[in-house]
Amino acid sequence: MKNEILRALQLEDQNPGSWSGSKSYKLKDCITSFSPVDAARIADVGISSSQDYQSIIRQATKAFEIWRVTPAPQRGEFVRCLGEELRKVKAELGKLVSYEMGKSYQEGLGEVQEMIDICDFAVGLSRQLYGLTMHSERPKHRMYEQWHPLGIVGVISAFNFPVAVWSWNAALAWVCGNVVVWKPSEKTPLCGVAVQKIVARLIKQMQLPDGLCSMINGGPEAGAWLTHDHKVALISATGSTKMGRQVGAAVAARFGKSILELGGNNAIIITPSANLKKVLPAIVFGAVGTAGQRCTSTRRLIIHESIYRKVRDTLVKAYKQLRIGDPLDQNNHVGPLIDQQAVRQYLLAAEKIRKQGGRLVIAAKVLNGKAYQSGCYVQPCIAEVTPEMSIVQQETFAPILYLMSYSTLDEAIAIQNNVPQGLSSAIMTEQLREAELFLSAAGSDCGIANVNIGTSGAEIGGAFGGEKETGGGRESGSDAWKLYMRRQTNTISYSDTLTLAQGIKFEI
Ligand code: NAD
Repeated sequence: MKNEILRALQLEDQNPGSWSGSKSYKLKDCITSFSPVDAARIADVGISSSQDYQSIIRQATKAFEIWRVTPAPQRGEFVRCLGEELRKVKAELGKLVSYEMGKSYQEGLGEVQEMIDICDFAVGLSRQLYGLTMHSERPKHRMYEQWHPLGIVGVISAFNFPVAVWSWNAALAWVCGNVVVWKPSEKTPLCGVAVQKIVARLIKQMQLPDGLCSMINGGPEAGAWLTHDHKVALISATGSTKMGRQVGAAVAARFGKSILELGGNNAIIITPSANLKKVLPAIVFGAVGTAGQRCTSTRRLIIHESIYRKVRDTLVKAYKQLRIGDPLDQNNHVGPLIDQQAVRQYLLAAEKIRKQGGRLVIAAKVLNGKAYQSGCYVQPCIAEVTPEMSIVQQETFAPILYLMSYSTLDEAIAIQNNVPQGLSSAIMTEQLREAELFLSAAGSDCGIANVNIGTSGAEIGGAFGGEKETGGGRESGSDAWKLYMRRQTNTISYSDTLTLAQGIKFEI
C-alpha cells in the first residue's frame, strides 16, 4: 500500500530541494511520518533550517516582482492547470491523505475534490477582481478603487485537512497576484511534500518563477519564522485557538495581516418538528466523521425535552452499528485518531466528563487487536451533560458527542451561543419561524449556521470561518479574496483648475 502510493505520487526520491523550486536547499534533521492506520513508518521528511527559510523568502520576493504584474487571467491559467494536475492524481492523493492522516478514503477523495473546486472557483475569480467606482463631489474628477496583491502569503495549516486548507489559500492568493510559502502540519508532512511536488513540476513546465510556491517543514518554530517576518504580508493560520493566540499576537505586533481559522465547538439544535429519519445520519456523520477531528465536527446536541429520550436511544443504536477500522477499507465508518497524544486527550476528556457529573452513555474505549495495532482507534462516545460543565465549553478533538436538553428555542439558542468558540451551528426543524429565528441576528452567533444540514461539510463557494475564539477569519468563496489583496482608492482630476474636497478654498 505504502509503496504504491509513494510511487504514484513520485515521492520515492526524497530530494528535499525539489519542492522549493529549482535550487536545492540543505535540510537538516527529519520528521518521521507514521501512519495512524497501521503504525507503519511512511517517510522521513527533512526539516527546514532558518537558512533554508531565508533562501526561500528571497526567492519568493523575487517571484512576487514578476507575478504581481502578470495579468490576473494569466495567473488564473496557472491555477486552471493545477486543477487539471490534481484531477489526474485525485485517487492517489486521496489515498495518501487517508493513510497519513487517518480519515476515510471517501473523505480523502473529498479533500482533493475541494482542491479542484477551489481551483475552478479561482480561475473564474481571476477575471472578477472588481473594484468600485464612485462619483466624485468635484467636477471633472473620477474616483475608483482597485485591488493590488499583498506580497508573500504565509500559510500555516493543521493536520486534519492536510491539503485542502492550503489550496483554499493558495489558489486565491495566486490569482490575486501573491506568492505562497506553506508550512504544513508536522503531523502530516508527506501530504505537504506530495502537493508541493505537483506544483513545482507545473511551475517548471509553465516556465514560471520558482518562488511562486515554496514550502518549509517543521513544527511551531518554523511557523514562527513566518509570523515574525515583516516580509510576509499575510499569515493565514489554521489550527488550535492556543496557536491562534500566539500567531495573532505576533502578526499584529508587526502590523501584518492575518486570517485565523481556529477551533470550533459546534452544536446542532434538534426541535420537536425535526425529520429525524433525514437528520440523524447527518448528526452521526458530523460527530464521528474524520473520527471527530474536523474543526466543524458536531460536538454538542441540544435536544428538545419532548424528544430527548427518543433521539438519545436512536443515536445509541446507530453508534452500536458503526464499523471502526482501516479508513482505506470503504466498509468502515470511522478511522483512527491522529496519534497517541490525541488518544490521551480523548481519555482525559472522558475522565473529566465523569468527574464533572456527566454520564457516558457510550463509554470511551481504546480498541485493541490486530486491526487496531496503531493504538489510535477509539470508540466514538456519547455523554449526557449540562451546558455549563467546563469540559463541554472546550474543544476536544475526538469523537465525543455531548447531549443536553432544552425547553424553549430561546434557551436552546442561548446554550448554543454560550461557548467561547463560534465556528459552525445547525438547527433541525420543519418550522419556518424556528429556522428564521435561528438565522436572525438574535440567533446563532457562528460564522456558519445551517438548517436541516449538519455542522460539517462546507462547500467552497461560501466564505468559511468563525467568530469569537475561532478567530474571525474567512477563506475560500464569496468575497474572501479581498483579504488577500490591498485596497487602493484613486482620484483623478481632468479639470483645468484645482478643486479641493469639502469646498475648501486655497489660493496663492
Ligand atoms: P495546532 O494548533 O497544533 O497546529 C496547527 C499548525 O500551527 C501546525 O502547522 C503547527 O506547527 C503550527 N503552530 C503551532 N503553534 C504555532 C506557533 N506558535 N506559531 C506558528 N505556528 C504554530 O493544530 P492541529 O492539532 O494541527 O489541528 C487541530 C486544530 O485545528 C483544532 O483546534 C481544529 O479545530 C483546528 N482547525 C480549524 C479549522 C478552521 O478552519 N477553523 C480547520 C482545521 C482545523
